[in-house]
Amino acid sequence: MPELPEVETVVRGLQKSVVSQQITSVQVFRNNAITPLSSELFTQRLTGCTIETVTRRGKYLIFQLKPQLCLLAHLRMTGKFIVTSLLPQPHKHHRVWFQLGHQQLMIFDDMRCFGTLELVESLEQAKKLQQLGIEPLSAKLTLNHLKNCFNKSSTTIKSLLLDQTKVAGIGNIYASEILFDAKISPLRTGNQLSIQELKNLKKSIQKILKAAIDKNGTSISDFRKVDEKTGEFQNFLKVYGKNELACSHCSTPIQRIIQQQRSSFFCPSCQQ
Ligand SMILES: [Zn+2]
Repeated sequence: MPELPEVETVVRGLQKSVVSQQITSVQVFRNNAITPLSSELFTQRLTGCTIETVTRRGKYLIFQLKPQLCLLAHLRMTGKFIVTSLLPQPHKHHRVWFQLGHQQLMIFDDMRCFGTLELVESLEQAKKLQQLGIEPLSAKLTLNHLKNCFNKSSTTIKSLLLDQTKVAGIGNIYASEILFDAKISPLRTGNQLSIQELKNLKKSIQKILKAAIDKNGTSISDFRKVDEKTGEFQNFLKVYGKNELACSHCSTPIQRIIQQQRSSFFCPSCQQ
């Protein structure tokens, strides 16, 4: 599932290719990507709009349009945006085509159909965005914020990192990598962490997410950039997907455990 670094990679790709372009036509192949609007209304509202900016909040992509309208996209499991100047044949995973000017096509492709495209009048009206926690790469990620969010909780730190209302954008891959970098076991609870450990965690959150963005995200299964090339951070993962392989730091076999129906990977020696 795309997490913050993958969404940021998609946003940067779209910023280079679709900003200032006018949406000249829209074709919806599968309605459930755009619920609750009908495909007629979705098409009608978007046609003629110009894409002013493409930004990110948590795992949401935000297309700010002119006249005033916002398109919020969430990729969920397998959603992706492809921008091409070729005229492809519709593929069974294509959900929506956005014709941009006369030269380009932006395709929303989603094999598993969990991704969503939603129109809102303004960002202030987007309740989903208001519920998100702070951006981890902003100055708002402070030791105090982590103390307030994590230090009073008896929930495991792995679950707390995945909670989008506390810190937005971290998913299963980066939660494991961040905890390895911070040398904290995923089994610890928020209220067991010392101030020094919270400081380490803050540093590791920013270090791992920035490193992953620098490598254009992680392509383990479906994630692709808008030019359909893969990210490269899968080559730099230290624990995720490495169960029973030797820890790169101490050679102890990496363990895989299940927490809230999701895999966590960690080194039982390095992470206490
Ligand atoms: Zn180790």
